[in-house]
Amino acid sequence: MGGLMSYGQEQNIEVETLSGSRTSIRIDSVPDSCPTCRKGIEPKYLGGKQISSTSIGLPKDRYICYFQCPNKDCLMVFLASYQASEFDSSRFFLGDHGVVMHRRNEVFTESVRSISPRFVTIYNQARTAEENGLSEVAGCGFRRSIEFLVKDYLLFDNKDSGADEEGVKTAHLADCIKKIDDERVRAIARKATWLGNDETHYLRKFEDFDLQNLKELIKLTAYWIDAKETAKKYDQDLPSK
Ligand SMILES: [Zn+2]
Repeated sequence: MGGLMSYGQEQNIEVETLSGSRTSIRIDSVPDSCPTCRKGIEPKYLGGKQISSTSIGLPKDRYICYFQCPNKDCLMVFLASYQASEFDSSRFFLGDHGVVMHRRNEVFTESVRSISPRFVTIYNQARTAEENGLSEVAGCGFRRSIEFLVKDYLLFDNKDSGADEEGVKTAHLADCIKKIDDERVRAIARKATWLGNDETHYLRKFEDFDLQNLKELIKLTAYWIDAKETAKKYDQDLPSK
């Protein structure tokens, strides 16, 4: 999954069926323009889900697929529908595509927003996916959001000691977490990553936890970061006697 795709080219994409299993379908093309910024694009494929099964006299199998605009000033996620060909049910044709309408953002504190604006964006895009029934796609998005939160926080927290920005950006998330100096942030971020990794792997390790737990741990990580930053401010402005 992932990667930029070219328009007007038949290709296979991985999707989720009604029963939750994964399969691959052959599509005729991908959307060639972004419904938000209107630019001509080669969108990034994020995932897809079957929405109705075959029944006589009705449109055949349909899938709703999620794409992301690669334009750096936009990065909006949008949906496209694919419908099976009447003559060959193994081939799917692009129908409408547009922006997701249903959207409620999680509000993060000022310090979290300024430490990692990309975390806030990615977290809320994942939330939009979740609210629109695409929990598999949402899981990967939440996992990605922790990575931005942790790395941006590490860079922020070490900015005075001259953090190796490129090193942090390319390092494994687990190694970055080890470098977090606050114990509470480190412990919760590590747990969030365990559940987050589960969302991106084929086999789950933590069967008893779900997206709600993952979101709770991510929000708790953000909460501890905020608590630490707020406390730091008072340490500076109101030093102990
Ligand atoms: Zn766009």
